[in-house]
Amino acid sequence: MQFIKTIIASNPTFQKTIPTEAPYLEIAEFFYDTIQGEGINLGQPAAFLRVQHCTQNCWWCDTKEVWRSGNPYTFEELFNLIDKTDLVEKFKAGQHLILTGGSPMKQQQGLTLFLQAFAERYGFRPFTEIENECTLMPSPEFTQLIDVWNNSPKLKHSGNPDSLRYQPNIIRHLSLLKNAWFKFVVAQYEDWDEIETSFLQPGLIKRKQIILMPLGGTREGLHRIRETVVEIAVRESVRYSSREHIELWDKKTGV
Ligand code: SF4
Repeated sequence: MQFIKTIIASNPTFQKTIPTEAPYLEIAEFFYDTIQGEGINLGQPAAFLRVQHCTQNCWWCDTKEVWRSGNPYTFEELFNLIDKTDLVEKFKAGQHLILTGGSPMKQQQGLTLFLQAFAERYGFRPFTEIENECTLMPSPEFTQLIDVWNNSPKLKHSGNPDSLRYQPNIIRHLSLLKNAWFKFVVAQYEDWDEIETSFLQPGLIKRKQIILMPLGGTREGLHRIRETVVEIAVRESVRYSSREHIELWDKKTGV
């Protein structure tokens, strides 16, 4: 994967001090010249800005070791790093910026300021997607800066307490935004029943917004369940998405 370029590598032993005067983002890793691995834009060339911290603690999370560490970077530090690369040209050519985590929503205020500062400095805004666990309400300012909402509410099998993972008012709000999709990680046939009773029947989301993805942080794990998930998707007339970064690179992170 020599074509994938790293701006900030995951490094649990490296510790920076928190800036006291300038706005900053807490970042776990930042890389580009790869592809969006899942969801409605699977295959799209993309840059991933992975922030630290999350609102959830899914037992099967395949990036936990990455987003639990990281460092604060001021916007100036980030722009200096970006200026040493051809990322801006890649954005101009159409590469998407994917805000991921952890939980980008936990840093929506900082991300709003950063995206505004980016537009001011470079004269354009990258096409921006967000990976969203759907537990925090987006501000109007942040909403304006997001082009695609890859919402992924967590089901019971994630192991998170219901009161932490399931926020009906926020999910309903998100479903009304432009380009809002709902990716559900599916581990078993019964997961569809939960999607139906907790999301479709109360009218929180629309069927056409649903994308089902197999649970699995390894290629082997994905292959165990993917046919079942395709079967459910076809039966229920909703989309299926593979997790292509895992199909391609298995457990490797930073890709
Ligand atoms: S919400 Fe996403 S990043 Fe957070 S623990 Fe769950 S799978 Fe991991």
